Amino acid sequence: MPTQPDVQRIFLAVREQPFIGPLRLGETRRSIHPWWKGVNAIVCQQAFRDADTAFANWKSAGRRGVSVGYPRPKRPGRCRDSFRMFSVRLVAEDLRHVRIGGERGGQPAFTVRLHRPARRLARLLARGGVTKSVTIARDGHRWSASFNVRIAARPAARPSRRQQEAGWIGVDLGVAVFAALSDPLIVGDDKLQLIANPRHLDNTQRQLRRWQRRMARRHQKGVPAHRQSNGWRQARDQVARLQALVAARRGSAQHLLAKRLVTQYAHIAVEDLRVKNMTASARGDALNPGRNVRAKAGLNRAVLDVGFGEIRRQIEYKAAWHGATVTAVNPAYTSQTCNRCGHTDGKSRRTRDLFACTRCNHTTHADIGAAINIRDRAQQMTGEPLAGGVRSEGATR
Ligand SMILES: [Zn+2]
Repeated sequence: MPTQPDVQRIFLAVREQPFIGPLRLGETRRSIHPWWKGVNAIVCQQAFRDADTAFANWKSAGRRGVSVGYPRPKRPGRCRDSFRMFSVRLVAEDLRHVRIGGERGGQPAFTVRLHRPARRLARLLARGGVTKSVTIARDGHRWSASFNVRIAARPAARPSRRQQEAGWIGVDLGVAVFAALSDPLIVGDDKLQLIANPRHLDNTQRQLRRWQRRMARRHQKGVPAHRQSNGWRQARDQVARLQALVAARRGSAQHLLAKRLVTQYAHIAVEDLRVKNMTASARGDALNPGRNVRAKAGLNRAVLDVGFGEIRRQIEYKAAWHGATVTAVNPAYTSQTCNRCGHTDGKSRRTRDLFACTRCNHTTHADIGAAINIRDRAQQMTGEPLAGGVRSEGATR
């Protein structure tokens, strides 16, 4: 298994060698890799290093107890277009341009204009951050640059007075309802306990299907992507554009929810969901044929659309920034247990939305009831007194 320096050496040796084989009429002799002159040398080095990482991850997978597939070669049109560079700096005057450094005898330096001023990056650099690398990637019809900045860690954040007074909130992430909350969340001028599902994929699905059908119709079998017709390429670009749009909107809805949670509350309780298990196919096997395979497939699509795992990740890292804590609890029966008397009964859930306890007749929205159970379980787990600790304080006096 050749390592980065080996591959580098081989690449340097062969890149200028002439192409061996018959020439077509009017063709001049070309090199094996005619593209290398247009590519910054660092981009190639970084790609070789990424290959090293991919092989190392694959080799150590067994030892780490995870499953990692054999590294797959990247192919044009079949992978995310991205590359990594160094010596990129922000032009300080307007924060709207980045200067990408050249190399001796290779690519000259050049400047790229950004879509909007990079204020957050400028703030990090002003605090003494150092740009280590920049990854440039294509999402649909747009290119984005991610700056990797090394900066000294700030002292651990502490929750604000407002967060401490608000205390705990339980979050029940759902498919029908994006998020149900045990306590109100301030969103603009409103206080909400049910955050509606953005359903971005549904809204653009019709358009997406149209372009996907056109892509299928215009596709010539056995012909590589770069030799397909203009009509096919156009449809492919539209599909990529719509998918990128969906991803961007989904991302902004998730970021907004996560940020509101961690800035308004000091403790956030979430379900310990194994997204992987939830989205596993319901098909079953020969001995245990699955039930509701179609329904589960639809649910899987919706679960992935909402992006549970991603929201959890965002809540966790944002919580650290704002001094909030995150507690994950076992979600079993949270939607079947009464908030008032603790009675657990599947029949208490009368409809999708309505929960009415079969023992004490307590009624609530089923998802909000689940969120309250999640909050209470987390409080019990961490030994925090329920309902803000008023009772225990009275007892010690
Ligand atoms: Zn009850």
